[in-house]
Amino acid sequence: MKPSNTQSNEEPQSLYAERITIHPRIVFGFFTRLKALSGIILLGLYYLIPWLQWDNRQAILFDLPARKFHILGITFWPQDFIFLAFLLIVAGLTLFFFTTLAGRLWCGFACPQTIWTDAFIWMERLVEGDRPKQIKLEKSPLSFRKIRIKAAKHTLWLIFALFTGYTFVGYFTPIRELSEALIIFNLSEAETFWLFFYAFATYGNAGWMREQVCIYMCPYARFQSAMFDHDTMIIAYDEKRGESRGSRKKNNKEYKNKGLGDCIDCTMCVQVCPTGIDIRDGLQYECISCSACVDVCDSIMDKMNYPRGLVRYTTENRLNGKTTHIFRPRIFVYGGILLAIFISIGYSISARILVELDVIRDRNSLFIETDAGLIKNVYSLRIINIDNNPHIYEITASGIEGLQLIKDKEIEVGAGAVMTVPVSLLVNYDNLSKRSTHVKFKLTAMDNPELTVIEEARFLGPLR
Ligand code: SF4
Ligand code: SF4
Repeated sequence: MKPSNTQSNEEPQSLYAERITIHPRIVFGFFTRLKALSGIILLGLYYLIPWLQWDNRQAILFDLPARKFHILGITFWPQDFIFLAFLLIVAGLTLFFFTTLAGRLWCGFACPQTIWTDAFIWMERLVEGDRPKQIKLEKSPLSFRKIRIKAAKHTLWLIFALFTGYTFVGYFTPIRELSEALIIFNLSEAETFWLFFYAFATYGNAGWMREQVCIYMCPYARFQSAMFDHDTMIIAYDEKRGESRGSRKKNNKEYKNKGLGDCIDCTMCVQVCPTGIDIRDGLQYECISCSACVDVCDSIMDKMNYPRGLVRYTTENRLNGKTTHIFRPRIFVYGGILLAIFISIGYSISARILVELDVIRDRNSLFIETDAGLIKNVYSLRIINIDNNPHIYEITASGIEGLQLIKDKEIEVGAGAVMTVPVSLLVNYDNLSKRSTHVKFKLTAMDNPELTVIEEARFLGPLR
């Protein structure tokens, strides 16, 4: 994969490249429609998801102050953050898997940077018109009309960015409460900060920086070539068919005799490119596989009555007349690891017991001898009800003959609540064979025996 802007060795190289503003030309075609559909669905999901309810609670809520993540009826506690680590591994491996299989499909069709940039470009065209009008406006001297048009565009961008920031905060604060607070200007400092921060990031990245994020900031653009092989799907220009490029009249049937290929050198593939590269220069890391050049070149081929596909989805092997292999060792390796992780995460989540018990010995006294000659140990039981329903629990203890458990109150723990209960264990001195004996506490929800947890502790007595 080569950089697009190669310079000869004789030319002095500047370390600073001034940005050339890119005004991508509008394009219509199959892949552009597919991309628009993907953008609408993904943006729709982003803005709608915080409004969905599940069990009278926001379906997806990352409740940081309470240190709980609610995802579709499942609540993840800090001790479940191992799942988050697995989720990140899965996300990384999925990206590897699909990159090896289908190239930068993620970048072109699903990456948030691409989706939001497309939305901002759409608003820009709505206000300023398509590429020729944008370039004309850019070059025109400052005037009231120019200020009015630019102000309208930035206002639209800012409203959209603020709405995006507000929705982002809605994933961390219940969005209905957030909306009420917003109406009466009563947001907390943290909510205000993150709303404006995210809005600013959206406005800056999708409105101003656009392709620069992909080219200079995104690490994926740099290392994705390591996952490419000759069978990876890429967007490529068919050099053998297209060269020598050159303009000609539409009905010119003699162009091949003049040594011309199918490329009419109209530069439309460059004009539609959101990263401003020329796909005819070969595979470049700046290419985000958005397929705009495929659609526009197909439309040119249609006009010229040439077969479509001069620029197309293909593989290096196919371009060189060789066979493309979909199933390769690395596909099986990535796929196998992904499957194994999915199965283990699924099993771990389904096998989770929705109650936890911590037993803490009273550190003030090792043991107490009662007037009746019994040995007493005091404990604090910390019960965490991870379930989304309240439960009344029964607690029992075993491990020493004649062990008695004394507690003051009924153990009723609310949904997602934590309760600390003091309990005592009493045993006859004669039943103790050693100074320290292992005992087991068993906690069971009275309405659901499956919610049972057993925890070990030590019972201490006098030296024998
Ligand atoms: S759009 Fe097609 S025909 Fe036009 S310059 Fe690009 S590759 Fe050549
Ligand atoms: S070269 Fe084609 S596919 Fe790549 S970014 Fe430009 S328009 Fe999109």
